[in-house]
Parts: sequence; C-alpha cells; structure tokens
Amino acid sequence: MQDKFVDMVSAKAEVDLPLSSFQPRSSLTTAVTVVEKPKFPAIDYHNHLDSTEPRKVLGIMDRCGVERVVNITMRTGEEGLAMMDRFHGAAPERFFSIGWMDWSDVTRADFVQATLDRIQRMLDHGAVGIKFWKDFGLTVRDADGKLLRIDDERFAPIFAACGEWKLPVMFHTADPTAFFQPIDQHNERYEELAAHPEWGFQDSPVTKRELIEQRNRVIARHPEVTFVGAHCAECSENLQWLGEQLDALPNLMIDISARTPELGRQPYRARNFFLKYSDRILFGTDLLPEDAMYRLYFRFLETADEYFEYPSHTSRQGRWNIYGLFLPDDVLRKVYRENALKLLKR
Ligand SMILES: [Zn+2]
Repeated sequence: MQDKFVDMVSAKAEVDLPLSSFQPRSSLTTAVTVVEKPKFPAIDYHNHLDSTEPRKVLGIMDRCGVERVVNITMRTGEEGLAMMDRFHGAAPERFFSIGWMDWSDVTRADFVQATLDRIQRMLDHGAVGIKFWKDFGLTVRDADGKLLRIDDERFAPIFAACGEWKLPVMFHTADPTAFFQPIDQHNERYEELAAHPEWGFQDSPVTKRELIEQRNRVIARHPEVTFVGAHCAECSENLQWLGEQLDALPNLMIDISARTPELGRQPYRARNFFLKYSDRILFGTDLLPEDAMYRLYFRFLETADEYFEYPSHTSRQGRWNIYGLFLPDDVLRKVYRENALKLLKR
C-alpha cells in the first residue's frame, strides 16, 4: 500500500510538463463539416499577397469560391505601385489593392501635400483604399521625437481628401488586448508573445483604450469617409464595446480578418453581433491564401460545428478552439460579398 502511494506521488511530479510539450488531443467526437466553397461568392477584403504569384492565388481562389482578393500592399513608393500593377494586370476583375501609408518622411514640412500626391498616384494605379497601420499612434514620431497622435489635426486634410476621392480608409489601430499586458503566466497569449516578444506593447506610454479613442475621434470628424477597422477594429475581445462604437460611428465598417479565434470562442454573442451588424462586417482573412485556410473560415461562418481549430499563422493565438456561427443566408451574402462590393469601386 505504502509503495503504491509513493508511485502515485512520483507520477504526479512527472506530469508537470514544460508548456511546449503539452499537446493535448481532444477526445470529443463532433461533426466535421468541410465547406469546399462558400455559400455565396466571397471577397477577401484583407490580405497581403506579398511576393506570391498571381496565377497561383487565382487557382486557390477558383477552387475555394473566392471571387476577389483585396491586397494590402504593405509597401510604399514605386514598389507599392508596381505591386498593384502586377496584380491588376494579371486579373483586373479579381485583384484589388489598398495602398500603404508612407511615414518615412513625416518630419518634412510639406508632408501632408507629399502624402496627397502619393495617394493621387495610388489612385492612378487603381487603388481602392489606403491603410494606416498600428505604427500610427504607437511608434511614428515627429521631428522632436514626440509620439504622433492619431487625432493630430495636422493630418485632417489627408482624411478630408479621402472623403472627396471617396476612398475608404483602413485603420489597424492598437492590437489585441493581450499584447498590451505583461508577457507572464497570466497572459492568455503567452506562447505567441514569448515567440514574438517584439509584438508586445506592455511598455507603451499610450494605452489601447486611448489609441482606440484617438482613432474614433478621426472617424467622427470625417463622416464623409468610410473607415474600415481592421481585425474587428481591434475590439473583438469586447463585443459590447465594439457594438457601441458601431452605433456611435455610422461610417465605420469592420473586417473579421485574423479574429476568428476571438469571435469563435464566444459564439452566442458573436452570432448575435453578426445578425445585428450584418451591414457593417466584411469577410477578410489576413492569411496567405491556402485552400485549407479559406475552408476553415467558411466552416466558422456557415456551420454549427463545435470545438475546432481556428485558421491562424503557425505560432497560433491562444490555447483554445472555436465554434461555428451557422449564419443565415442574408447575413452571409452581405458579409461575404455585398458589403465589400460597395467599397471596391475604382
Ligand atoms: Zn493585415
């Protein structure tokens, strides 16, 4: 009897595994629905095609029922324009481009005019939007080394011009809430942040809430501009708050790219959110096109499958699984395609 007890104690010590060695396999037997193609043609409003071959992407799009992909260039200057030309040249009806805001010479006196000239060139090359990334608010500094605020009035003419051009403005402001918290045992995205400590903003002098509020002030000041909040406007951890922002800002749309992990772990609330805001939500992935990736997104939106892996980059987001939202046809039609179509007029 005594020996058995000793065995149990030592066995207990051995289960204190390193986190990286803990790879549990779910014992649930649940439905696995493969959605080869979406119920309605889909527009991927948020992607970065980078150096991929247009022809290769078209093959994936055809197999997966993806009608169009919006490529956000992530490059500035001639490189960005050449990228637009390359994809528009390959399939002008299927590839669309959002240009990347260039902050490289933000300290020059005529920066606003230079930016307007650059956007004009993007328009000449067929751009359907301009993206302001998270560096705006977090790292871009003025000539004195002061952090620039998103709601800095000096940039108002840029947004006003986008209104005149009817050019949608995408904002990726702030980041997931976990990225603003210490990278420690309480951080639910510990493994991801430990692998990419440079993604953390725990030492940022500006809080996530302040950044979102700065951004929202710009959106409120420019009602003539349609703004797209990338990644659920970075508020998918708090759909109550996100809903309040959508209520207050009728010119704000959101894309769901890279946020199925958040939406899919709160499926009741997320489903109601999609039903209520179906006119404001855009399908997007933010992941390099692959058949399996697109099919996971379709499974999430269309099926009632339970507890399955979310689409993600290799370092994953957190140790949880997601649940499908079984959205009705009218919602799917808008989210997959109709909402995006309104923004894609060249
Ligand atoms: Zn992105």
